[in-house]
Amino acid sequence: MDDSLHSGIEARAGRATASSRPIPVSLSVRAHRAGADPAVRSSSALIDPDMPNEGPLVDRYGRVHDDLRISVTDRCNLRCVYCMPLEGMTFLPRNELLSFEEIVRVARVAHRLGVTSIRLTGGEPLVRRGLTDLVAGLSKIGFSDLALTTNAMQLAALAGPLVEAGLQRVNISCDSLRAERFASIRRRGDLATVLDAMSAAEQAGLTPIKVNVVLLRGSNDDEILDFASFARETGRIVRFIEFMPLDAQGQWDRERLVPGREVFETINERWPLAPVSADLGPAPAEQFRFADGIGRIGLISSVTQPFCGTCNRLRLTADGAIRNCLFSDDETTLRDVMRSGGTDEDIEHQFRLAVWAKFPGHAINEPQFLRPARSMSMIGG
Ligand code: SAM
Ligand code: SF4
Repeated sequence: MDDSLHSGIEARAGRATASSRPIPVSLSVRAHRAGADPAVRSSSALIDPDMPNEGPLVDRYGRVHDDLRISVTDRCNLRCVYCMPLEGMTFLPRNELLSFEEIVRVARVAHRLGVTSIRLTGGEPLVRRGLTDLVAGLSKIGFSDLALTTNAMQLAALAGPLVEAGLQRVNISCDSLRAERFASIRRRGDLATVLDAMSAAEQAGLTPIKVNVVLLRGSNDDEILDFASFARETGRIVRFIEFMPLDAQGQWDRERLVPGREVFETINERWPLAPVSADLGPAPAEQFRFADGIGRIGLISSVTQPFCGTCNRLRLTADGAIRNCLFSDDETTLRDVMRSGGTDEDIEHQFRLAVWAKFPGHAINEPQFLRPARSMSMIGG
C-alpha cells in the first residue's frame, strides 16, 4: 500500500485507522460470497471483528462513504466509442433489474447509514420507463443531493417532470461542440438535441449544469479551448474526464488519454485559472474558476492523478450489486438478499461488508492492474 496515501487518509478522517491491525486479505471474497447465502451472511465467524456494526459506512482506511451512484439500466440509446461497441452488446434481462421498489428500499437503508448523495446513472437512465416515479420515491427519503447523469437525448421533455419529482442536479455528457464530430464519437444521437436539452434543463431549474467531456487524443483534444470558451459563455461547468479502461470493447489505450494536467495548461495559458477550493474533498473533479471571475471548469484525472484517497463513493449496479469501486470486481448482490426474504438489517450488513472490503486504490498504474470484468455502462458511471 502507498504509505502517503494511507497517512493522508488518516489525517483527513481525523481518526485512528486499521493501519496497525492485520488486514484480513480474503475479506472481499467472503463479502462477495456472503451475499448469495443467508447462512453465510449470518455467520459471525466470517466477520472481521474490527468492522463497525453501527455509525457511518467507514472502510479500513478511514474513508466515510456517503455517496451512492445508482445504475437504473445497462441499456443505452447511444454507442459512444469509449464506452460501447456499435453492435453486439448484450443487456440484462428485465427480471434481473432491480425494480423501483427495490431501489428505493436499498436507498432508504443507505440513507440510514449516512448516505447523503444519490446520483442516477446507467447505461442511459432516461431510457428506463417511468424514471420520474423513481426520482419521486427517492426524493421522499430526504437526501441532500439527488442528481442524474445523462446523455440528454430524452431530457428536454423530461426535465420539468424530473424537477417536479425532486431532481436537483444534472450532468450532461457532450464530447464535441461540432455536430459531425459529436456524431462520430457518440455514433447515435445529435448535438442539437443535447444543446436544446441543456437549455430546457436550465429553464426547469437544474442549474448550474455540469457538462461531461471525455477527451480522446486525435479525436476531440483540439476542442479544449472551445469547451473552455463554452463554459465561460454559458455558465455551465465543463468537466474534462480522462479516458478510463472501462470500455466494453477493451480497446482502452493510454496513448488516447489526454491528461488533466495538459488540459489545465492549455486553458491556463489562454485564460488563467484558480482553484475553487484549496481542499479537493471527496469530489472527483478538481474544480477551477477562471481568474477573471467568469465561469468554471473541472478536471477528472482518474488515471493520471487518482483521487482514491478521498473516495466516498459506492455503486449499485442495475442488477442490484453493491460495488465498492469502479475498478474492482468485488460485488455483493443485494438483489438476491432482497429476493430471498432478507431484512433491511441484512442489506445494511452487506453494505458494511462491501465498504470494509474496499481496496486503498484502483491501481490502474500498477503492472498487476487487471481491467474489471464489467464495463462502465454495466457498472454505472
Ligand atoms: N449514459 C449517461 C451518459 O453518457 O452521461 C450516463 C452513463 S455514462 C457511463 C456516465 C459517464 O461516464 C459519461 O459522462 C461518460 O462520458 C463517461 N464514460 C463512459 N465510458 C467512459 C470511459 N471509458 N472513460 C471515461 N469516461 C467514460
Ligand atoms: Fe451510453 Fe453513456 Fe455509454 Fe455513451 S457513455 S454509450 S451515452 S452509457
